[in-house]
Amino acid sequence: MMTLTRFAGWPVIAGAGLAGLSAALHLDRPCVVLSPSPLGEDAASALAQGGLAAAIGNDDDVALHMRDTIEAGDGLCDTRAVEAIIGAGPSAIATLLDWGVAFTRKGETDLDLHLEAAHSRARIAHVSGDSSGAGIMQALIAQVRASSRIVVLDGVTLDHIHVIEGRVRGVWLNTGQFIPTNHCILACGGAGALYVGATSPSSNTGRGLAAAARAGARLADMEFVQFHPTALDVETGGGRSPLISEAVRGAGAVLIDETGERFTDELHSRDRVSRAIARHRLDGHRVFLDARSGRGGKGLKQVFSRQFPGIARVCAQYGIDPDRMPIPVRPAVHYHMGGVATDLHGRASVPGLWACGEVACTGLHGANRLASNSLLEAFVMGRAVAWDVNNAARDRHSCQNPIRPPRLSSASFGPQMDRGAGILRDREGLQALTSYLTPLASRDDHALVGAAIASAALRRRESRGSHWRVDGEDSACAGRFHFTLEDIGLQERSLEPA
Ligand SMILES: Cc1cc2nc3c(=O)[nH]c(=O)nc-3n(C[C@H](O)[C@H](O)[C@H](O)COP(=O)(O)OP(=O)(O)OC[C@H]3O[C@@H](n4cnc5c(N)ncnc54)[C@H](O)[C@@H]3O)c2cc1C
Repeated sequence: MMTLTRFAGWPVIAGAGLAGLSAALHLDRPCVVLSPSPLGEDAASALAQGGLAAAIGNDDDVALHMRDTIEAGDGLCDTRAVEAIIGAGPSAIATLLDWGVAFTRKGETDLDLHLEAAHSRARIAHVSGDSSGAGIMQALIAQVRASSRIVVLDGVTLDHIHVIEGRVRGVWLNTGQFIPTNHCILACGGAGALYVGATSPSSNTGRGLAAAARAGARLADMEFVQFHPTALDVETGGGRSPLISEAVRGAGAVLIDETGERFTDELHSRDRVSRAIARHRLDGHRVFLDARSGRGGKGLKQVFSRQFPGIARVCAQYGIDPDRMPIPVRPAVHYHMGGVATDLHGRASVPGLWACGEVACTGLHGANRLASNSLLEAFVMGRAVAWDVNNAARDRHSCQNPIRPPRLSSASFGPQMDRGAGILRDREGLQALTSYLTPLASRDDHALVGAAIASAALRRRESRGSHWRVDGEDSACAGRFHFTLEDIGLQERSLEPA
C-alpha cells in the first residue's frame, strides 16, 4: 500500500467534467483532480451540443425559467433547488464569460440564445452551433492548466471512499494508492453507459455513485433515467451512440419508418417521442430521421452541414449523408436524474463527502430534466461545493495505515438493463432485473447501481416523468424516494479487508 502523503489533507475531486473543474477552480486551496482520461476526454460535458440554459434574454426572467423546469419535473422538483440553481444562471454565464468561454454572440454585446423544447423563452447559450460543451470545457481546461494550485492526476479513478466512524477519512485509487483526506468531492458524471449504446461516454457507469452508496450515502430519484429519442442507430462496437440533437427535429426533420411513413409528432416531449419510437421498434420497424423534405416544407437539404456541422461530421463517419438519405435513429439513455442525494451546498449524507453534477441529485430535475439545465447545474453546484469546502475546517487528517478494501468488478449488464429498466417498464421485468443483479451487487459496482435503479423503479408503481410503467397504477405516488443501500437490502458498507 502506498499513501500519497504529498496530497494528504487536500480536497480530492473525483471527475474532470464541468462539475469537477468548476469545483477545482472555485476552491481556494490546493486540490487534486482525478481524471480517468486526459482532461476533456470521456466527459459528457465535452459532448453537450445544445448549450447551457440561463434566463438572460431581454424577454426572460428567472421565474419563467423556474416555471419551465418545474413543469418538466412532473411534480417532483425540489423548489428550493430550482430557485437556487436556476437563480444562479445569470451569474454562471458571467463567470464563464470571464473565464474565456466564447459563447456565440448576436451583435456586439448580446449572446445568441437558442430556443429548445419545453423552454418558454430562447435561453440556451451556445458555442459554435452544436459544439457547446467542448467550447465550455476548452476554456475551463485552460484555466485549470494555468493554475499551480490544481494537480490533475491523469488516468486515475476513485475506487473506494474510506469512512471511519461515519466520516470520510480518505480515498482509494485504482492505482492501489491511498490519499488521506477529510474532503472528497464526487463529480463522476452519470450512469448512462450501464445501458447499451447510451449517448454518454463509456466512463459514465456510476462507479462513483456506487462508491458513495457503499460508504453509506443516501441516494435519491434513482428510478428516473432520461432517454433521448434520437441517437444514431449504427454499430459502434460497444461505444457510445452519437446524438442527433433535438434541434434537428426543431428545424423541420421528420421521423419515418422503413416504409417512409411518419408515425408520431416529432415535436412532442422527449419522453413521448422516445416511447413512440420504442413501441414502433417493438412492432418490428426501423426508424429514421429524414432531414430532406421536412414538416411544412421545412427541409434541411443542403443546409444540414452548415446548421449542424458536428452532427454532419459524425454521420459522415458512418457513411450517412443527411442531405441525401434518412438518418437511422433509436432512443438511447441520455441522462440520470437520480444520484447521490445532496443539499444545496452539495453535501451528501456522509460527513466529508460532497457530490455535484450528474452523479448528484439535488432535486432540481424532479422526474425529468429540462433540456440544457444540466450544464448549468454542474457549474453552479461545483461552485457551491467549493464554497462550502472553503469554509470547512482545515483539520489535520489522521488516517494511519488503512486496510485496503477488495477490488470490485464492473461487469457489463447493458442488455439486461435495456430489457428490465428501459423506456417501457413493468413489474415482471423490473423484478427479474432486481433478482439478477442483487446477488452480484456486493462485488460489482455496475450491478449495485443497476439494482438500485431497478429497486426504485419497482417501488414506483405509477408512470411519472421519464419513468413509464406499462402496468402503471392510476394512484399517484407523488413523493421522492431517498434511500441507503441498507434500506433496499443491498448493504455492503463495511467491506471485508482483502
Ligand atoms: C451527447 C450528450 C449531449 C448533451 N447535451 C447537453 C446540453 O446541450 N446541455 C446540457 O445542459 N446538458 C447536456 N448533456 C448532459 C450534460 O452534458 C451532463 O449532464 C453534464 O455534462 C454532466 O457533467 P459532470 O461534470 O457531472 O459529468 P461529466 O462531464 O460526465 O464528467 C464526469 C467525469 O468523471 C470521470 N469519472 C467517472 N468515474 C470516475 C471515477 N470513479 N473516479 C474519477 N473520475 C471518474 C469521467 O471520466 C469524467 O471525467 C448532454 C449529455 C450528452 C451525453
